Amino acid sequence: MMKEMQARLRLVFGTANQRTFLVPGSGSSAMEMAVLNFVEPGMKVAIFANGHFSNRLTEMAERQRAQVVRLDRPWGEVFGAEEAGAFIERERPHVVGFVQGETSTGAYQAGSAITQAAHRVDALVIGDCVTSLGAMPVELDRNGIDIAYSCAQKGLSCPAGLSPISINERAWERLAKRAEPTWSWYLDARLVAKYFEPAHVYHHTPATALYHAMYEGLLMVEEEGLEARWERHRRAGAQLVSGLTQLGFEPLVSKPENRLWHLATVKPPAGLDEAALRQRLLERHNIDVATGLGQLAGKILRIGVMGPLATEERVGYLLGAIKQEMQ
Ligand SMILES: *Cc1c(COP(=O)(O)O)cnc(C)c1O
Repeated sequence: MMKEMQARLRLVFGTANQRTFLVPGSGSSAMEMAVLNFVEPGMKVAIFANGHFSNRLTEMAERQRAQVVRLDRPWGEVFGAEEAGAFIERERPHVVGFVQGETSTGAYQAGSAITQAAHRVDALVIGDCVTSLGAMPVELDRNGIDIAYSCAQKGLSCPAGLSPISINERAWERLAKRAEPTWSWYLDARLVAKYFEPAHVYHHTPATALYHAMYEGLLMVEEEGLEARWERHRRAGAQLVSGLTQLGFEPLVSKPENRLWHLATVKPPAGLDEAALRQRLLERHNIDVATGLGQLAGKILRIGVMGPLATEERVGYLLGAIKQEMQ
């Protein structure tokens, strides 16, 4: 099962990375594995900060006692190649972190604008693909992301608790040169990777129920076809945003090409009480819609259409319920 899941994970990640495996825990656990193994105390880490999850990356790097520098952009925006290049040339970091699918804002940044600049100064790039994996192109190898992590419960639509990570050869060599192993035994990437190699020498007890769920989830991706799955999410997302716009909502991410397909983030029309609308959707339709996170709390709606929800029928049903409850 491990071997088959690894092969399918490489496919969804868009990578040939041998070190593609599963970390016990939710997405934050895989995020922590990326930071603990590749950020050593005293290193300079550059964070592209445009949302809640790049703040989480910042905090993890700071707890590693790294020297963290940030390039901030308003929430909902992404970074251009020029500003990314200038920031990285100026700071010359060891490690760069960015979020491909920023779930707090709905912004999508494939990554190559950042990774090209980072590689010019020989920095490793950590890419947060927690939301993007399984629903839209992640393309690690094409985008030059050295270390990527994700989760089970978003684009892959599996139960939470087991999180994919993928590490390329460049990063793996860097890991081999560490003076000391990371202080965490449980999240030591080298130990966990070994568990996924033949012989599968016991490292930690696998949550077998979650393995079975992930196995099935990845099989479903394969059966549908990765590109067909992307296309389904793209279409459902476009239908949702267009329907919401007609109802007077305004997308937070202004440029369509910078939007996550499977997560609509919209500002409510003037005069609409977003909390009351969400409450009515929950009570009368059993639909749970999220509000903003952090500085966007109470200001936007965040509506995910992932996995089985990304169909014309489900999106139509949701739009109908929203329309009804706005009256
Ligand atoms: C959800 C999320 C995380 C954290 O994942 P958990 O599974 O909640 O621990 C990290 N980054 C992004 C972009 C996310 O959307």
